[in-house]
Amino acid sequence: MKNLIENSDKKLIAAAKAAIIKNYDAENFNHTVGAAVACSSGEIYTGVNVHSLHGACAEQVAIGAAITAGERDFLKIVAVRGENGEEIIPPCGNCRQILSDYMPECDVLLMNEGSLIKVKSKELLTYAYKVEA
Ligand SMILES: [Zn+2]
Repeated sequence: MKNLIENSDKKLIAAAKAAIIKNYDAENFNHTVGAAVACSSGEIYTGVNVHSLHGACAEQVAIGAAITAGERDFLKIVAVRGENGEEIIPPCGNCRQILSDYMPECDVLLMNEGSLIKVKSKELLTYAYKVEA
């Protein structure tokens, strides 16, 4: 667990906030969460949650955008909730599995007891399910 916040962390959070500020819609489609993932290429990809019976979290949409663009090496990810993205939220259980599968060494930014911290993705899901090869 690291709590040293870098400028690139602030930039990533700002990108996640911009994604939800631009697309916030609590009335019709429940778009309330934005996410941003930074890749080793230097690019940042963003997403907002897509709500339905089996919707997708903002992290999944951002990761999907990155993968679609050809990215395979992920450095860090963050999700924010609210009309202004004011709340940094941790990944849900399903996202933790995806993070474990795709980017176990990726830093995940989240709040812990009022402080922003970075945790390795693999540390968020101990004894994770592994797909057999
Ligand atoms: Zn999730």
